[in-house]
Amino acid sequence: MTPRVRFAPSPTGYLHVGNARAAVANALFAARHGGTFLLRLDDTDTERCRPEYETAIAEDLRWLGIAWEGEPLHQRDRLDRYAEAAERLKKAGRLYPCWETEDELKFKREQRLKRGLAPIYDRAALALSPEQREKALASGRPPHWRFRLSEGQAVWNDLVLGHRAVKLGAVSDPVLVRADGTPLYTFASVVDDLEMGITHVIRGEDHITNTGVQRDIIAALGAKPDAMAFAHLPLLVGAEGEPLSKRIGSLSLRAMRGDGIEPAALVAYLARLGSSADIAPAPWDELVAGFDFRAFSRSAARFDPAQLLSLNCKVLHALPFEAVRERLPEGATEAFWHAVRGNLDMLSEARHWWDVVSGNIIPPPIDEAGDRAFLADAAAALPAGAYDTTTFRSWTAALTEATGRKGRALFHPLRLALTGEEKGPELKDLLPLMGRDRAYSRLALAAGGVS
Ligand code: GLU
Repeated sequence: MTPRVRFAPSPTGYLHVGNARAAVANALFAARHGGTFLLRLDDTDTERCRPEYETAIAEDLRWLGIAWEGEPLHQRDRLDRYAEAAERLKKAGRLYPCWETEDELKFKREQRLKRGLAPIYDRAALALSPEQREKALASGRPPHWRFRLSEGQAVWNDLVLGHRAVKLGAVSDPVLVRADGTPLYTFASVVDDLEMGITHVIRGEDHITNTGVQRDIIAALGAKPDAMAFAHLPLLVGAEGEPLSKRIGSLSLRAMRGDGIEPAALVAYLARLGSSADIAPAPWDELVAGFDFRAFSRSAARFDPAQLLSLNCKVLHALPFEAVRERLPEGATEAFWHAVRGNLDMLSEARHWWDVVSGNIIPPPIDEAGDRAFLADAAAALPAGAYDTTTFRSWTAALTEATGRKGRALFHPLRLALTGEEKGPELKDLLPLMGRDRAYSRLALAAGGVS
């Protein structure tokens, strides 16, 4: 069976790591099996959904390098499909009208809790006599509609979590249609998954109860719940095992992008987090080839920003020029990128090194008189002519010969004077980039002379 999967965010906020993990898993799984990946916007909640979030979701997915087939699908374009499915459920006696207000429901929940009962819906509306129901329908106050859940359990073999069972008696009959006629996610999602031919529903473990309920709805609509496979990824938790929900703002893809996280690092991280595969930089094709639900642990995965940052460094150090060209300072060359990439924690630091080789810097004063004298000699000994990556070596060999300096005594004052930094990319690579004149004035300035 060729998989057909969907990533179905609600445009009620920006994508965060939790959503992104589901998106990555769906995309890798589809790619691994030659399947199709759809982007569906679960946007029936008109009060909370915003067009700007929709645009942001598409942008963030593109940034991650995830492509979907065709145009994004919108639930709000399919309201007639949900209405038709709701009619079928009404005819089958599975969707029943309810008139309780929010306050009444809240009161009932509190009463049940006081009596030590689970705060689920008591099915009072289902117990109305036909006359009472007719009367209520005739009153003109529109009802909301609940789905009558089956007895017993919904059971399935989850591709990640193994055997799973949801006791339907322990769950409230879900509202599928609001009083204003709009469908809720639980329902719209089932209708879409069936009509769009979704073969695998891949999402977070927080949807386990939904899956139990949705399998019951699938059966009530006359389809086979087992025709669709379910894979639930265990939750992400913080380094201390705490829920990530409190920090989710800072864990939005936008915030991470702003912090300098590379998409390739985030994808590699999310593709393997919580699985037995090594977390290491890996190109997309390798992540695809190795993607397997069976490698995932059934317990929560720790999202560790330090681990992500270290992966980010490794990814950055190996990025080809073409991948960063647009984000480098204007004029930056491939030679520059190769010289500096191995020293960056974040791409944004490239700006500083660009100033070092092509702009102005203010180096710290050189305290030692001996070092200052040495730098004056070094300036005078700078070779003439074109510079390449061998220039530094011949120049410093000549300096050793003339002054007897080697090791740190030789390199440290040169580095400080030329770059203003204690550490950084190899001077042999930086020197030809900065050129003789810039090198000369910095050395002369540090030596205390006039540049
Ligand atoms: N809109 C739901 C969410 O963002 C979709 C869950 C699903 O994949 O069915 O949680």
